[in-house]
Amino acid sequence: MRRPFIAGNWKMNLDRAAAVDLATAIVARAGEFAAVDVAVCPPSVYLEAVAGAIGKVTVGLGAQNMYHEAKGAFTGELSAGMLLDLGCQFVILGHSERRHILGETDEDVNRKVHAALAAGLTPIVCVGETLDEREAGDTTTVISRQFDGSLAGLSDEQAAGIVIAYEPVWAIGTGKVATPDQAEEVHLDLRKMLTGRYNEATAEAVRIQYGGSVKPDNASELLAQANVDGALVGGASLKADDFLAIVAAAAGSQTPV
Ligand code: PEP
Repeated sequence: MRRPFIAGNWKMNLDRAAAVDLATAIVARAGEFAAVDVAVCPPSVYLEAVAGAIGKVTVGLGAQNMYHEAKGAFTGELSAGMLLDLGCQFVILGHSERRHILGETDEDVNRKVHAALAAGLTPIVCVGETLDEREAGDTTTVISRQFDGSLAGLSDEQAAGIVIAYEPVWAIGTGKVATPDQAEEVHLDLRKMLTGRYNEATAEAVRIQYGGSVKPDNASELLAQANVDGALVGGASLKADDFLAIVAAAAGSQTPV
């Protein structure tokens, strides 16, 4: 059985004090949901402060991006080693805002995935189609292309150590959530891709999160789907009560695989 994994993507929000307050409020109650893995992904400048607030017990720490090189003349970038040094276990890679606003390609994401794994970070690799792509019937083609491009060259063992987040672009920050059936259809496709490109054991091990307007009132239905193993939460992760309600929904959603 895969442990549910709920991660909060705080994006470019909050200030230092608010980030510490939010982390403190989450860590105070996360221990009530021992069956769920929980992580927060603050802006990189607040990673160290948030690491101090959460300690090392119940809540994991993730970054929202990194660069693939280990060090050198890359002004403004952060390496996987630096994120580890700040206490991160996770890094979100290929988020749709980075793909669509900042021009990241599958090749960029792939280099970062390799560098993260080599350094010992768990990448949360995001894939997702735009509304135009969905309406043109291209969802599977797009997801498959992002999957193959972002994960190129991974061994079975490396692939087993990643997390995938299916985040339809049209559902991110829009309030339009995928229906549980729409989410499950793509998650099942992703599971089949994992089986086909790697093997059954890898496919069974990898957790696939859904992301896109997950809120306390829609989380249970989404998380009840057999191949939805958690959520990557944006807006609702900025309020401790909402985020914890989603964690609670995940605690109540475990289905044997
Ligand atoms: C996200 O940023 O990954 C996300 C899913 O955002 P939201 O929950 O706000 O749609």
